[in-house]
Amino acid sequence: MRIKLKYDLSSQNTFRMKVSCECFVEYENVKELEGLNFDKLPRPILHIGEGSNLLFTKDFPGTVLHSNIEFIKYVDVGFDEVPVMVGAGVNFDNFVEETCRHGLWGAENLSMIPGEVGAAVVQNIGAYGVEVKDIVSGVVCFDLKEKKRVKFTAQECHYGYRSSMFKEEANKGRYVVTSVLFRLSRVPAPKTGYKGIMEALGGNEPSNPMEVREAVMKLRRAKLPDPLEVGSAGSFFKNPVVSSEQFASISPDGSAPHYVLEDGRVKIPAAWMIESCGLKGEREGGAQVYEKQPLVIVNASGNASAEDILSLERKIIDTVKSRFGVELHPEVEHI
Ligand SMILES: Cc1cc2nc3c(=O)[nH]c(=O)nc-3n(C[C@H](O)[C@H](O)[C@H](O)COP(=O)(O)OP(=O)(O)OC[C@H]3O[C@@H](n4cnc5c(N)ncnc54)[C@H](O)[C@@H]3O)c2cc1C
Repeated sequence: MRIKLKYDLSSQNTFRMKVSCECFVEYENVKELEGLNFDKLPRPILHIGEGSNLLFTKDFPGTVLHSNIEFIKYVDVGFDEVPVMVGAGVNFDNFVEETCRHGLWGAENLSMIPGEVGAAVVQNIGAYGVEVKDIVSGVVCFDLKEKKRVKFTAQECHYGYRSSMFKEEANKGRYVVTSVLFRLSRVPAPKTGYKGIMEALGGNEPSNPMEVREAVMKLRRAKLPDPLEVGSAGSFFKNPVVSSEQFASISPDGSAPHYVLEDGRVKIPAAWMIESCGLKGEREGGAQVYEKQPLVIVNASGNASAEDILSLERKIIDTVKSRFGVELHPEVEHI
């Protein structure tokens, strides 16, 4: 276990905000986590992964927890379905790469998403037509309120678009994910319907999950910033969902990109709205709307302050609201 006071968090968040926390605790296993004297730790308590969905707006006055629980265990008894138990501190893409290498289907479309396994099931990460909920069987947690281990089925996690029971107001910060049970398959089940995947595959049906992974990585490299090169937290805003009437007023001829949900409401790509407002490449101090994907705000100068990012966020929200009458909401968590 590693405990540090006045710890610099610059390398613990992909936006590269230069902030620190009062106390930083990195634990190696569940026993160490359970053994912590939480009453003595500075409050509040925040559990982080790789900080790839966080915007630290100031120094954090409490304790930041981080998991080093790293294992991948196959519960393979020869059936088509292969349960895989994974520690919450495993880098999500390492898990995807390894399972693809073993020829297991299910996680390949989620290739190259930054972050750790614990956060992935809190966020319900998604990309290229797949969400992590599609492959989760159960989540094992430590309950910080009752100080005991608890398990949740995927159904009990109440998954929705980038949301879960763990993010509900009443549960926020209560459960520390310690491991996740995934359900993968030996049976080929390529999901290649999402725009661009078949082209990236050269028009050929994939014969193994690694081929899909490589196609997804090719697409992602072309439009998303590499966190090692430029700071960001990926998509800054959620795609708004509006009524069919509101969509008709936004796009009377229906030509705007959109996706009709089962309940008849319409999801509109926030990137299209931002670009239509002429905000691609827009700057505030060191922060910029990413040229290749306007849903992303980047720390273009490497020295952007949280104020730069917040004022660019405000400008985008206000401009989109006055042009389309739709309020964008951030996907990135502000701390
Ligand atoms: C370049 C880039 C591309 C991205 N692309 C995508 C994408 O395609 N799809 C997508 O969905 N997201 C994407 N993201 C967002 C991000 O990668 C995901 O939200 C990811 O799951 C965050 O993981 P993390 O480990 O960095 O978590 P953090 O950002 O550190 O934390 C996220 C949340 O999870 C909580 N948390 C972290 N670990 C635990 C734990 N063990 N137990 C309980 N709670 C925990 C935190 O408190 C916080 O609420 C992208 C980000 C970047 C920078």
